[in-house]
Amino acid sequence: MVAGVPVDTRHWIGGRRIASAATYPDHSPIDGAPLAEIARGGPAEAKAAVAAAGEAFPGWAATPRTERARLLHAVADGVEARLEDLAAVETADNGALLRSHRRGVMPRVAHNLRFFADRLLALGHDDFTTPAPASGTGRGHTNHIDWDPAGPCVLITPWNAPLMLASWKIAPALAAGNTVVLKPAEWTPLTASLFADIAAEAGLPAGVLNVVQGYGAEAGAPLTADPDVRRISFTGSVPTARKIAAAAAANLVPTSFELGGKSPLLVFADADLEPAADLAVEQYDNAGQVCLAGTRLLVEEPVRDAFLERFLAKARALTQGDPRDEATDIGPTIHPDHLARIDGFVRRALDDGARALLGGGPHDGLGGNYYRPTLLTDVAQCSEIVQEEVFGPVLTLQTFTTEDEAVALANDTRFGLAATLATGDRARADRVAARLVAGTVWVNCFFVRDLAAPFGGSRASGIGREGGDWSFDFYCDLKNTVTAKHTVTAPIGGPRHG
Ligand code: NAD
Repeated sequence: MVAGVPVDTRHWIGGRRIASAATYPDHSPIDGAPLAEIARGGPAEAKAAVAAAGEAFPGWAATPRTERARLLHAVADGVEARLEDLAAVETADNGALLRSHRRGVMPRVAHNLRFFADRLLALGHDDFTTPAPASGTGRGHTNHIDWDPAGPCVLITPWNAPLMLASWKIAPALAAGNTVVLKPAEWTPLTASLFADIAAEAGLPAGVLNVVQGYGAEAGAPLTADPDVRRISFTGSVPTARKIAAAAAANLVPTSFELGGKSPLLVFADADLEPAADLAVEQYDNAGQVCLAGTRLLVEEPVRDAFLERFLAKARALTQGDPRDEATDIGPTIHPDHLARIDGFVRRALDDGARALLGGGPHDGLGGNYYRPTLLTDVAQCSEIVQEEVFGPVLTLQTFTTEDEAVALANDTRFGLAATLATGDRARADRVAARLVAGTVWVNCFFVRDLAAPFGGSRASGIGREGGDWSFDFYCDLKNTVTAKHTVTAPIGGPRHG
């Protein structure tokens, strides 16, 4: 039982619960309490899961689109019916706010399933006729495009938004007619297990969705090296992505990577500073454990003090504490190891001459994994704290004096996931957005994502885009069938054109 909800801690493979010889303990980041002993998968479980996905693939791929879509909607119904359970278990497991899970995240999980179910039914209406006169051989021929399912997919996810991120992958992969093996993060495996129950109850056939738990090196690595896998979609860190890319290269498996970031939040002097400060404070959401967080505040020099005054007032008003409490704004970070990592970044920055305008260490009064919202200034552009992803509630403050300088600072890291602009000038917003290297640019808003839009990162922040039809591009083998205007049977042995 976790948060009063029974959770099966075995793997889910081929429609059955499978135990492992070994288990590992899962603790709550809220207070360190042990939550469950989790089946600790390895190469055998990985192989069994890919085999189960391979066996189920022909049947699922041949299932009519309308039926696949109906089943995904049925799973979404199940998610909505168990929303409270999912929210409570996710909060116990990863420490993010219960109110966000209830009102935002879990409804989004259901929405993700429904969106891709509906999108599937809209696919494939782009047949076209090669216009005459045309060069080469295509005059008057029709091109019919099929989105063929690719096969078993491996989906590997991090701990910061466990079921939300898993559902971004599961929904399009299953809609496309693929079968999947999900490997949730070792620190947060519980809602994936509940999701497997929900999917089975909704009628998803055995083997279409499989869940293998365990550590990355033990359970994840063999999944990514399996030659029967046709796609790998990964969300996580850059070092892990390198290992997965190497494993995928051996089998020439296409990969989709959504990785880390060090995104800028630019505040121009023409911005309305109240909402700009709200946007900046929002970057502490989920204790800063958000890949998209605009952790580098870049503020135009003349409004620095006015912005800072507003920012500090709002940030100091945040309530840090138990994420199950409705009044809490910031909960714990995920794990003592992660807290130590965050603190290491801050300590090194302070040793290097940075100044803490806010926070600067763990929250002693709360114990456990709580880190105080932190703002550091007097940081050099080339310093570690400006260049590397901390993945905690730690922001830096720098200033600029010209638009060119703002763009140069914004683009000067190895990442390119997102950028946020606060400005009152529409033309400036367009100009600056056009020059930023980022998968997503938000103007006077943050964290808004329409599933129909492409999502992903540039540079070290990722490879590929998911969302809308881009997801189907990735999860499908696109096939073009070209048919002549007048069907001609070529004489045997007659000329053929390749
Ligand atoms: P991580 O790379 O340590 O782990 C992610 C997943 O990969 C886990 O399930 C882990 O078990 C697995 N894994 C680890 N080693 C593996 C291996 N050798 N082979 C296969 N799988 C392996 O990342 P994390 O610490 O869990 O997550 C934080 C990172 O995720 C941050 O960098 C964050 O920015 C990024 N992230 C990106 C996005 C995005 O959409 N771009 C979203 C959320 C998080």
